[in-house]
Amino acid sequence: MESAQGAFLGPDAPDLDELRKCVHCGICLPQCPTYRVLGEEMDSPRGRIYLMRAAAEGRIGLTPTFQRHLDLCLGCRACETACPSGVRFGSLLEATRIQLRRHGPPPKRRLLEALIFSVFPEPARLGAALAVFKLYRRSGLGRLVRATHVLRPFRRLAALETLLDDVPAAEALPELIPSRGKPRGRVGLLTGCVQRHLYPAVNRDTARLLALAGYEVVVPRAQGCCGALELHAGRADALRSRARALAAAFPEDLDFVVANAAGCGSAMKEYAHWLPETAGFAGRVRDVAEILVEADLPLGPLPLTVTYHDACHLAHGQRVRQAPRALLRRIPGLKLVELADSDLCCGSAGVYNVLEPALARELLELKVARIAETGARVVATGNPGCLLQIAQGCRQRGLDVTLVHPVELLARAVDAHAHQG
Ligand code: SF4
Ligand code: SF4
Repeated sequence: MESAQGAFLGPDAPDLDELRKCVHCGICLPQCPTYRVLGEEMDSPRGRIYLMRAAAEGRIGLTPTFQRHLDLCLGCRACETACPSGVRFGSLLEATRIQLRRHGPPPKRRLLEALIFSVFPEPARLGAALAVFKLYRRSGLGRLVRATHVLRPFRRLAALETLLDDVPAAEALPELIPSRGKPRGRVGLLTGCVQRHLYPAVNRDTARLLALAGYEVVVPRAQGCCGALELHAGRADALRSRARALAAAFPEDLDFVVANAAGCGSAMKEYAHWLPETAGFAGRVRDVAEILVEADLPLGPLPLTVTYHDACHLAHGQRVRQAPRALLRRIPGLKLVELADSDLCCGSAGVYNVLEPALARELLELKVARIAETGARVVATGNPGCLLQIAQGCRQRGLDVTLVHPVELLARAVDAHAHQG
């Protein structure tokens, strides 16, 4: 029989000692995007911890109200950064979602979640789905559907449709890319699911910059999804099998495994919490900015005004804030202007923008308003979900800005340097 802890069951229950570390000080509240928009205590980190602790102590059950407050959480982990008591909110939330998962998603979400989880974490299916989407757009059907508001009754699907502006041609990287210049080591590159299909240039530029920094780059063909989306949805078994498979897909002699998608890197760095046998692999995971900031890349001028949005799972999940900024500041001629509330979630949060489009939209509007204040024409950020979400928000507001991953600017600066010579 499984062990019980109040309303929670089994070994993946939220840690009661961790829940009790919260001293209810409220310091995290102003940093919480859902509290800022909704102003409800139970939609704040403190309120959610109160609910989780009450469930762990058997004072409340996992009711629909409980589920709703947890569903509305973005999992952005801004509360973790703010918390002076060091409460690890992210793992408490994930563990609670595993418990809620035992009852399945709320009926209204079942179909949509089934669709999302059968396509997004499967690179081949996602590629096929995007090819169909490309045809749909090219056929003019997309314009017709939008003009006639056919998707209006399916608000969540409509959110997905408006998110995708264009689907670039697929690109496959070689399995082995030799280092250039002074050899530094050997790294593996995670190509991701959304990243490989929607932002192939980011993977190409990442591989090229790593090689230029002196790394031999291994890009295993057999690599699948990292399981981050499943982790955030409480699908523990799926996360464990993806973690096991991904760790096995990369050679053991790599110095680092490099991710250029904040959500993937964050989940991979924390694999050992869910699957201790992956500790060696997880310990070698780095965000691309952490690696490149140690290198001496030849950079030519880019006369651009750029602002930087902190992806939640880079700033809060991985505590990587300075490395991307330092890299951008190294580009001659590039002016980096700080973005107010740069680490406030843009509303993307994995598939949150599809599951909770209304709240995601409010957060996106806040983000786009802050971007407009900077006067920057380029916004850099290290996560494909943020790139998609913010680009959509800027398009809809008519703001003339380009969204890029920092590696794209670095690659352009490398080209500028080559042209100078
Ligand atoms: S993870 Fe984000 S949305 Fe959830 S409680 Fe913490 S700050 Fe709020
Ligand atoms: S800052 Fe930390 S201790 Fe204070 S209320 Fe928030 S989670 Fe609890």
